[in-house]
Amino acid sequence: MYASHHSSLLLTLQTVTLIPGDGIGPEISTAVMRIFEAAQVPIQWDERNVTAIQGPGGNWMIPPNTKESMDRNKIGLKGPLKTPVAAGHPSMNLLLRKTFDLYANVRPCMSIEGYKTPYTDVDLVTIRENTEGEYSGIEHVIVDGVVQSIKLITEDASERIAKYAFEYAVNNQRSSVTAVHKANIMRMSDGLFLRKCREAAENYKDIKFTEMYLDTVCLNMVQDPTQFDVLVMPNLYGDILSDLCAGLIGGLGVTPSGNIGTNGVAIFESVHGTAPDIAGADLANPTALLLSAVMMLRHMGLHAHAQRIQTACFNTIQDKRVLTKDLGGNAKCSEFTAAICERVQDLD
Ligand code: ATP
Repeated sequence: MYASHHSSLLLTLQTVTLIPGDGIGPEISTAVMRIFEAAQVPIQWDERNVTAIQGPGGNWMIPPNTKESMDRNKIGLKGPLKTPVAAGHPSMNLLLRKTFDLYANVRPCMSIEGYKTPYTDVDLVTIRENTEGEYSGIEHVIVDGVVQSIKLITEDASERIAKYAFEYAVNNQRSSVTAVHKANIMRMSDGLFLRKCREAAENYKDIKFTEMYLDTVCLNMVQDPTQFDVLVMPNLYGDILSDLCAGLIGGLGVTPSGNIGTNGVAIFESVHGTAPDIAGADLANPTALLLSAVMMLRHMGLHAHAQRIQTACFNTIQDKRVLTKDLGGNAKCSEFTAAICERVQDLD
């Protein structure tokens, strides 16, 4: 499906690969497409499926035409994907991560006014290294009853994630970057990660750099999350902290996410699951995917459109009149979407 073409915009239309996904994926993708159309965002969609297929050598891969689409367009938006437990292939998210070397997972966490959560005024971003660390997948039995798992930290991966964190801070008007680590215990591995963060900081004098132990971050985070801005960290710490931060602002239903890869590829996605219990019932909340799409627009430099859509979404939630069930209302996904479309047009 393609967004309507406005002839005046034809020259500047950028194409984005859309992977609607499974379960509620198609519904929330349709919601995002409607809102983008109402906001006259100058992009068109190239819709693709992602299923695991087996290549000639027996290797699992994503469909070649989806890979080609991503390689060409560079930017993707993706709904949740299911991996059947007995599928016999790696999770689709893992395949995508490997295929495009998605090394940075970025999750902005921002309190939504009018949506009551234990914290207010949270406005921070977690940046997680996503290719190595504790999740290198290198594990083995040494002798019966003794298992070893290797935490792999490399100079190259630490350097690129550190550099990305500072670049992100500069491009998104952020003022500080905190490196989260345990270099007091893991002197060599986290020590290397931290050293690369310090070196990156040298090149970004306008951004304040701090380093903090993971346990101290956790303590401070639950006491006062407003003290944090951009946080950068190795894989496992990022896995845990990013979910903790999502919890501060109301959970995965309202948390956007982006994955940055090499060669300019970036895939934005909602981090919640496929919600099979409500799939097809027009009950899903499209906010997480919509805010991921807003992140995508910022990444593409379409800041005005991003701001307008975000404002329309936040105002609709704040207004409390049309809300999906998970947000405390009783509106359908399509009704919530229509309410946001109306506001987007009012903001013109
Ligand atoms: P999966 O196996 O794909 O991870 P799951 O059901 O285990 O699916 P989620 O999909 O994250 O995990 O769902 C957890 C609960 O949250 C479900 O009850 C689901 O309906 C609800 N949920 C998740 N995402 C949304 C959403 N966008 N809007 C409304 N409810 C949601």
